Amino acid sequence: MTPQTKPVFCADIGGSFIDCAIVRHDGTIADRQKLPTPIHDLDMFLATLEEATAIHDDLDLHIALAGLQDPESGICTAANIPCINGVQLARRLSSTLDRTIRIGNDADCFALAEARMGAGRSHRNVLGIILGTGVGGGLVLDGRLITSAGGLTGEWGHGPVIPHLPGMESHIPCFPCGCGQWGCIDTIGGARGLERLHAWNGGEKADSRAILAAWRQGDPLARRTIEHYVTYVSAALALAVNLTGATILPVGGGLSNAHDLIEALDHATKKRILRDADATLLTPSRLGSDAGLLGAAFL
Ligand SMILES: [Zn+2]
Repeated sequence: MTPQTKPVFCADIGGSFIDCAIVRHDGTIADRQKLPTPIHDLDMFLATLEEATAIHDDLDLHIALAGLQDPESGICTAANIPCINGVQLARRLSSTLDRTIRIGNDADCFALAEARMGAGRSHRNVLGIILGTGVGGGLVLDGRLITSAGGLTGEWGHGPVIPHLPGMESHIPCFPCGCGQWGCIDTIGGARGLERLHAWNGGEKADSRAILAAWRQGDPLARRTIEHYVTYVSAALALAVNLTGATILPVGGGLSNAHDLIEALDHATKKRILRDADATLLTPSRLGSDAGLLGAAFL
């Protein structure tokens, strides 16, 4: 699976839980445990990881983080785990844990795992995309994860692609984004975004599952929402495909379970890229909830 033959202790750290386990060189996962993430107390956060790894003190620690670690400064940014914001996490951990610590963004780990062991296995260039609460992504070119630009490479969901034109608010679904810009795909591309788009379309307040169920039943308003969704999201994906040369886009996150939605996005994206593509471009993740842990092992 990896040039390493020794197992790695991996932790997939999100805003709610720390999913951790030993990942062996053949990709098997052992001693898995799920712990609540202490998000407000750095000492507790560090202690939780130290305790989890204590009996495996001969193994390196690799982390898939719901956040970023600047590759140059080592400083972490994690909106959903405030206690590690601005912290050089690897340095803090290595001061108490005598072992190699590696940290990667969780979407990057997802892309890496899918590229090496999952849906992207037979492809040179893989763009892993997350359609979760929001959107994310990671880029693997020639088998190598690209981590330049502050760890932000592969973030296809940000950039003001939906125009912000005053007076056109009822015609163009342009919303402010958490990144500070307006009109990012992140504002409509994840589950919360789909719900926002549906409300903008005049729909009743509903969660993404209810909207998708209504779409499948032929509800006209839900159909319009999904039409908008597919149009905007596939446009950004087509650009990303043209730019990166990715030949497969494994999709993770909650919305990837809606295989019909992924299929609709796949069709629309293929129609909008420059090259002729018959083969599937967007496909649901093969590794599911293991992708973060497996990808961390490859860091
Ligand atoms: Zn944004």
